[in-house]
Amino acid sequence: MTKVADAPVPSWVEQATSEQSWVPRCPLCDERSKACRLQIDHYGIAVGLSVCACGFVYLNPRVSQDAYLQLFVSGGYRELQSRHVGYNVYEGLEEDQTRYGRALAAFIGRSLVEEGEGHRSFGDILDLGGSIGAVSRQFLSDRVVVVDPAFQEVPTDGIQGVLKANAETSANFDLVLICRTIDHIPDPVSFLETAVKHLVDDGYLWIDAIDYELVREVSFDLPSNFTQATLMALVESCDLEVIAVRRDGRHVGVVCQRG
Ligand SMILES: [Zn+2]
Repeated sequence: MTKVADAPVPSWVEQATSEQSWVPRCPLCDERSKACRLQIDHYGIAVGLSVCACGFVYLNPRVSQDAYLQLFVSGGYRELQSRHVGYNVYEGLEEDQTRYGRALAAFIGRSLVEEGEGHRSFGDILDLGGSIGAVSRQFLSDRVVVVDPAFQEVPTDGIQGVLKANAETSANFDLVLICRTIDHIPDPVSFLETAVKHLVDDGYLWIDAIDYELVREVSFDLPSNFTQATLMALVESCDLEVIAVRRDGRHVGVVCQRG
């Protein structure tokens, strides 16, 4: 890993991260925010961090949602990541997502069998923040809709954009995937509430996040930082019930359904 503290921060990052506002209450439990502490993230960018008594760790002040999305839409985000890790992250992207998707499809499949579900296909899948679609392609399904603000090559039924309860995605889905995405969402509760609206009554939802308890690392592109406990609190706040937990390296994830 190469540190980029000596390299200049791209102007589009500076521009986007200059549009910040104080978050007066915890985005997860609504408690009043306490003073934040300043830290330098692994890209060399100064970020403020608040740690709530509920265990949720979030950037404060926080980049506005629109400015934050520009980071992804601009196309420069992966370049910044590549510079950070010292290799082109685009090159390994499809392979990484395919490997992750295969393991995840097997895990969710096993979890559903343990729940007494015997179906072969996952039915209609909504993949939120699904990037190039390589993860959801690993699931046997009838239809996949990928929603992502950044992908350039739109896969089948892909929508370049952010999740809204609009006509394009209002159909009910049997499985909603939120893979390694919720950490990038400044307001995770309203995001998940909207996601759940797209789920059929007996559908399943998968969500995972970097476990802050393990990594203890902040980054300007991760406004929300979860632990297993706060990820559980998030899904429970949206009336979801956890049926399986998966720990995978730096990540923790849960399969859930309506409670
Ligand atoms: Zn809180």
